[in-house]
Formats: sequence, C-alpha cells, structure tokens
Amino acid sequence: MGRIFLLPDEVASQVAAGEVVERPASVVKELIENSIDADASRIEVAIARGGASLIRVVDNGAGMDRDDALLSLERHATSKIRTGQDLAQIRTLGFRGEALPSIASVSRFRIATRLSDSVEGTEIVVNGGKIDSVKASGEAPGTLVEAKSLFFNLPARRKFLRSENTEASHVQHQLFLQAIGHPNVGFVFVRDQSVIFQAPPSAHLADRIRDLRGQQALEQLLEIDPFMSGTVSIRGFIGKAGISRSTRADQTVFVNGRPIENLTVQHGLREGYHTALMKGQYALTFLFIEMEPADVDVNVHPAKREVRFRDPDHIRELIANAVRRTLQADRVRWTQAFQGPLPSQSSPPAAIAVKVFPPESRPLFPLAEQYALRKDWSEFSSPSPSSEISIGSGSEQSAAPRPISSDGELTGPVEASVPKAQSESFRILGVLGRLYILMENEEGLVLVDQHAAHERILFERLRAQLEQAGVPCQRLLIPIVLPVPPKDFDWLLLHVAALQKMGFLIEPFGEGTLKIDGIPQFFRADDPAAAVRQLVDELRSITQGTSRLRLGEDVIAKTVCRHAIKANDELRAVEIDQLIHDLLACDLPYCCPHGRPTMIQIGYHELEKKFGRKV
Ligand code: ADP
Ligand code: MG
Repeated sequence: MGRIFLLPDEVASQVAAGEVVERPASVVKELIENSIDADASRIEVAIARGGASLIRVVDNGAGMDRDDALLSLERHATSKIRTGQDLAQIRTLGFRGEALPSIASVSRFRIATRLSDSVEGTEIVVNGGKIDSVKASGEAPGTLVEAKSLFFNLPARRKFLRSENTEASHVQHQLFLQAIGHPNVGFVFVRDQSVIFQAPPSAHLADRIRDLRGQQALEQLLEIDPFMSGTVSIRGFIGKAGISRSTRADQTVFVNGRPIENLTVQHGLREGYHTALMKGQYALTFLFIEMEPADVDVNVHPAKREVRFRDPDHIRELIANAVRRTLQADRVRWTQAFQGPLPSQSSPPAAIAVKVFPPESRPLFPLAEQYALRKDWSEFSSPSPSSEISIGSGSEQSAAPRPISSDGELTGPVEASVPKAQSESFRILGVLGRLYILMENEEGLVLVDQHAAHERILFERLRAQLEQAGVPCQRLLIPIVLPVPPKDFDWLLLHVAALQKMGFLIEPFGEGTLKIDGIPQFFRADDPAAAVRQLVDELRSITQGTSRLRLGEDVIAKTVCRHAIKANDELRAVEIDQLIHDLLACDLPYCCPHGRPTMIQIGYHELEKKFGRKV
C-alpha cells in the first residue's frame, strides 16, 4: 500500500530524455528534424566542445507564437498529429512531441522563435526542465534552439559522453545524414567557431553528394533509374560493383526523408549486389524510398531510427531489383567506353590493334606458342548445349569437375564468334606482370586482371547452363525429420516453393518440424540438418530474381576459379581478344564472382592529373 507514486513531470521528462537524448548528436538530430518540419530552407548548426557545452540550431522556418512556444515545451505536445489514426499517416519527421521537453530537461535550454509576419518573437529560458524566464525577443523570423551544458543535472549520464572529437563526429554524421536526405535545404556546420562545412540548397542529390563528399566519391556511384512500383518509389545512388566498405557506415537509406536502419533494406541491398561485392563488404548507398505513410510504421523506436514495413518482401524485392538493374546498366557505360574511336596512330603501331589481328598470325607473346592453348579455356569457351555437367558432387576432395565438352583446341577464328557489328574497339598494348592485360580504349588505359576476368566469364556461363538444366536434387535414402525454431519454421513454410526450385525437398511435418527428402546435389550431404539451419540465414535475402542456383554459386565460383586462366599463364593475342569480348558480354563484367574488380579504367583525365598537365 502506498508504494506507488506518480513521478513529478520533471523526472518523467528525464526518463523520456533517456530514450530520446542519448548524446549531443541525438539533440542535433531532433532539432534539425524540427527545423525541416517547419519548412526551413536554411539550417545552421553550431556546437562547442563536442556539443557537451553548447549545441545551437538556428533555422529560417515557420517559427511559433508565444503560446505555441510555451506549449512546445510540454511533454506530448505536438502540432504534427492529433488522433490515434494520424499515427498511421505520418508525413513529418517528428510526431512524438517529446524532443523539446526532453532536451530542456537535461540542459540549460533557450528557445527564441518568431513567426515570419510578427514584429517580435518570444524567448524562453529553461534550466533542467524548469522555466526560468519568458520574454519578448528580437531574433529574425524562424527558430533558434540552444542547449548548453548537456546532462549538467545528470552527472552519471554526462560521464557517458565520449571525447569531444568522438561526439563531434557523431554530430557531423547526423548533419551529413540530414543534409543528404534534404538537398533542397541549405546547411552550415560550425564547430568551436570554425565553419566545418557549408552546403547550399541544391535541386539535385548529386550536387549535395559532391558538396559533402567530393567529386571523386560521386564518380564511384551509379544513379538508380528512378522508378515507381505501385505506391513505392525508389531512387538515389549506389556504389559501383566492387566498390565497398567493411562496415555499413556508408549505407544511408531514407524512407520518406527519414534516415533509417532496417534489416529488410539491408537484405535487399545484399541480394541486389550478390556476386558484385566481396564477402563481408557493404555497398555504399544513398537510397531513397518513398511510400504511403500507411505502409510503413515509424513509431517503432524512440529515436525513430527504425521502421517496419507492411510488406517487407515486396520492399526487399524492389530494392534488390533496383540494385541489379543499376549495376547491369553500368555495363552499357563500359561497353560505350569500348565503342568509341581509338586515337589514330601516326607512326607504325608499337602495339597491335586487335580488331585487325589475323587469328593465325604471329602471336603477341611468342612464348605462348610453346604452350598448347589451355584446355580448360576451350572447354568452357565453346560449350555445347547438349553437354553434361557435374559440379563437384558435394565433396571437396573430388577431382576437378568433368569438362563441359572436350573437343580440345579453341575452335575457329576469333571473328567467327564475335559478330562484327558488336565488335568493341580497343587495342591491346601488352601484359603486365603476366597478369594484367593493358589496353587502350577511347577513354584511356584499361587494366584487366586476366584471372578475375576469366572467372567471371566462366561463372556466368556455367551458372546459366546449370540453371537451364534445372538444379539436380539428390534424394535422401532416409528422410530427415528436423525440429526447427519457430521463427525459422515460419520463414521456411513461406518459402517452400523457392526452396524446391533450389533443389530442396522440404515439407512441414507437424508443428515446428520439417521433413527433408532431398537436397541439392552440390550441397554437402554429411550434415543436411546443419546445412538447413545455415540455409535459413543464407537465404533470408532471397527474392524472385534470385538465381535458383544460389546455393550452388559458391561451388560454381570455386570450380571456375580452378579452371580459369591464372596469373603467369601467357595468352596469345587471339585469346586475349576473345577474353575481352567474352568479358564485355557478361551481365556483370566489371567484377569477378567474389566481387573483386576485373577491369580498371584509368582515364586520360586521371593521367593528365597525375602528370601535372591538368589540375
Ligand atoms: P514533435 O516534433 O514530435 O512534434 P518536438 O518536441 O520536437 O515534438 O516539438 C514540439 C512542437 O514544437 C512541434 O510539433 C512544432 O510544432 C514545434 N516546433 C519545434 N521546433 C520547431 C521549429 N524549429 N520551428 C517551428 N516549430 C517548432
Ligand atoms: Mg521534433
């Protein structure tokens, strides 16, 4: 009896502040969101000592009158929603009505705000949640919010703040996110009185990325061809194949203008980049997803970092497709770089223009004559459709896979296999370190890693052939009955059809139990139960566009790696020529199946810069 008390408002605010205000960066985030919601076109953020001693955000937005300004400091006071139904229709960044009172309860706080058509504004000073003064102020129209001595009344919390530099970099990251999310708003960031960056309002995201990250960063990106599917639109920029980071730090994703973290999106990206990124690497993205507010729940996390999609499978599918399409469209750019006219040569050519290279004339690398053409090459280069394939039937120890065909030498002259109309225009200059093919194209120098290039070619071919043939399934003599944790069970039930396509014969066998009758042939058979568990993690990201050979791709990649030409393998000119043509015909020519680059273009511009001919 008598043990329960209502918390005083002040304490309740501090409790709420615990969720919303974690560090200076979270204050900055909330304040910028308020400014954007108030339609500001210019936002200036200043911090001192990492934000611990001062955070100030000034905007030229709508401002407030005195009554509203006072109300804005009350908990759960907001102009952005009215009813419970509005929660399903949120079009603003804020809606919780918690930020200002929370910030004011853990700092020495001041807000000065003025409506644009009013002669004077209002200034309210709050100390640790208690209003100190309310008076008229003469600020420009808009709103200024200042939070000094953050957590001065919560020493335990203050101790959790990291070094000034660390806090400042978190603040800067927040600013960066908001600035990317809203290119039409101008941002200024001042740290300890020096301007760190200024980003003028711009109509295009590309300009904003350039302003914040530099031209070079922009050049590593591809623009997604914007598209709508139903009420969902996807646009933005993503990193080119092979360009990646070891963390997700540069994976920025916005849903209705709000930077978010979300597993569905991450899975979609991972799937879209499949074989275009190295394992454990993450793509760079500036992805913008716009959708009906009713289809996404933003009321999941106090800091509004997370969202829940009503139809996550659809979103994942759309993202994966957008990424795939964008990466494949980049091939056009590469192809174009190989179609322009080459600079004409006045003196006798030191190098050999491959287009006119007669197949049986003197080889480019005389030594290569001593070698017979690599068998594997020809086996894979001229597959016959009727041929039979088996890929490493489950055990790694098994000998090299049986060839696709075994008719020996490279068949026919190069011209026969490359239609003239499509022939690319490049000139092979030589081979560096018996690995890198040096070529000249319209844009400058191209370096090709001969092993990686051949891997990509063989990978795509072998995968296509196997796909056509259907995934071989090996029936188990004794079916396995396997208990599965509830969350995996549900997922597996939903995806039984997809799994069957991939060579798994799986069916539910009572609640929480699966029966496995068969597994893909290339799957390790020694512990199918463990394999299925692993499978669930591996396949969380699958979409309708996922190759049905997904589970065999590792094996295919290993197989082609063994068969691909290696560093030190000397190639004849015809072989190089064929290699480049075949590479350019791939879906993703610019990276090997493990996501490493196959070609690097060093343009004239870059060379001129390096030689100091241009700045
Ligand atoms: P929320 O943003 O969730 O509504 P806040 O506590 O952040 O809650 O802000 C409370 C209210 O104060 C907002 O709904 C808005 O009406 C007003 N407000 C806050 N910041 C600004 C600003 N910079 N300009 C104009 N109005 C603001
Ligand atoms: Mg807010």
